[in-house]
Amino acid sequence: MDTHSHIDNGSTSEYDICCLACEEEGLNQAALFYCKECQKSYCHKCVELHNKLYRKHTVLGREALALIQKKRDLEGNVERLQTVYQDVRKEIKDLRKTLNETLDTIERNTVKELDTLLATLKSSQKAEIDKCNSVLAKMQKINDTTPDIEKSSETTSLFWYRNYIEQSYETQYLLSNVMAVNSVPTITFSPDPLIGQTLTFSYLGKFMNPNNHLSVNRKETHEVKFKKDKEKCCITGICEMGTGEFMIIDWNNRAVKLLDSNYKVISYSELPDNPWFMSRIDSDLVAVTVNNHHVHVIRVKRGQLVWDKTLKFEHICTGIFHHDDKLLITSGTALYLYILEWELVTKMYEDTSHMSTVTSCAVSPDGTRIYVADRTNNKLKTLSKDGTVISTLTDSALQWEGIHALPSLHVTETGQVLVCCALSDTIIQVDIDGRKILAHVVKSKDGVIMPTSVYYSARKLLIVGRFRNKKILVFKCN
Ligand SMILES: [Zn+2]
Ligand SMILES: [Zn+2]
Repeated sequence: MDTHSHIDNGSTSEYDICCLACEEEGLNQAALFYCKECQKSYCHKCVELHNKLYRKHTVLGREALALIQKKRDLEGNVERLQTVYQDVRKEIKDLRKTLNETLDTIERNTVKELDTLLATLKSSQKAEIDKCNSVLAKMQKINDTTPDIEKSSETTSLFWYRNYIEQSYETQYLLSNVMAVNSVPTITFSPDPLIGQTLTFSYLGKFMNPNNHLSVNRKETHEVKFKKDKEKCCITGICEMGTGEFMIIDWNNRAVKLLDSNYKVISYSELPDNPWFMSRIDSDLVAVTVNNHHVHVIRVKRGQLVWDKTLKFEHICTGIFHHDDKLLITSGTALYLYILEWELVTKMYEDTSHMSTVTSCAVSPDGTRIYVADRTNNKLKTLSKDGTVISTLTDSALQWEGIHALPSLHVTETGQVLVCCALSDTIIQVDIDGRKILAHVVKSKDGVIMPTSVYYSARKLLIVGRFRNKKILVFKCN
């Protein structure tokens, strides 16, 4: 037994396991040892007693405790997964309930339309019937008043005859104009083609595992310097268009560049100022924040960059993120929510303690979490969708203060949260609540030196832009 050599400062342990012997005495002492035979964990004091009593027992040290801790964590994960499963099941059930209610309303509306149509058709038939009745009554009346030729005066006979002729015309008119329309009213129903188009999906939604680690293997580098570039490139934003091209922004050269599938620059557009960040707002439309109060909206049309419009805001625009017809823009000290007609809805979050406390933002695919980088304090904050801070992450990897670039954040389509750590030469993945770092996805050994932008494509490509570097890195992910 080499267990005693593991005793360091006595009562602390890096694992969250208590000495069971102490626990039986009502004490809380961290365990440092584990006996396989007893299946118990012991602190440094209790293990001495145990070792005297059970000389033949094998007592294991830290590694065993680490394994036990890991096992407990995994068991906890299994339990948690069951709870998560129940929650998701409830969400599916609620969604189905909403769909049922919507379909009920649609059905009610449709039946109401049918009722109105039936009433209209019935009333039009009824009007025709009334006309027939009215003419029949008149004919009957004329018939009843036929004068006796022998007894009646000539005037009476003529008067009656005139009435008879008039009635006859009226009847003929009715028969020719109204009754001649020999159509039988009917109603047919044609379902809205959108229903067929909408109900072609097989699932109510897709499942994501945002805490699933991203890992890379093969790496390629591609030069994105263009002949018009006067300065060293500094790629501060990357995004993929609906047609598969990548659009990138170059801070130093004040440019937007469109890359083809081989990452060659195929279109180039100069901006009036340095671009901070970009976000795709449609399959072919991108919004770019520049170093003033402007957002430039740029379209890709047949492989070319086309200026769409420029929007002026009341505040500085740094970070930008589009989600579900909503647009989040950071000003350096606040996070603003706009709806897509560029109408301000609310200031969601603010920290005016310094000028770079709210510099960039990103949103989880379900919209429940907003990630905000605090460049001044080197922190990542996670907010709920109403702007309440859920968590604040501080870690030595988060280092931005001192480089002339803002922290770049990216959330993948399946919810993985990526943070560009420019001064610690790494791109980290944090958990969905922004509480802890799950992985250093790429590091300096992968060539990730001063990363200023990151983008993950659904084609399993991780693309990284760097500070003062004309080459982007393209990693193939597992
Ligand atoms: Zn103990
Ligand atoms: Zn034992």
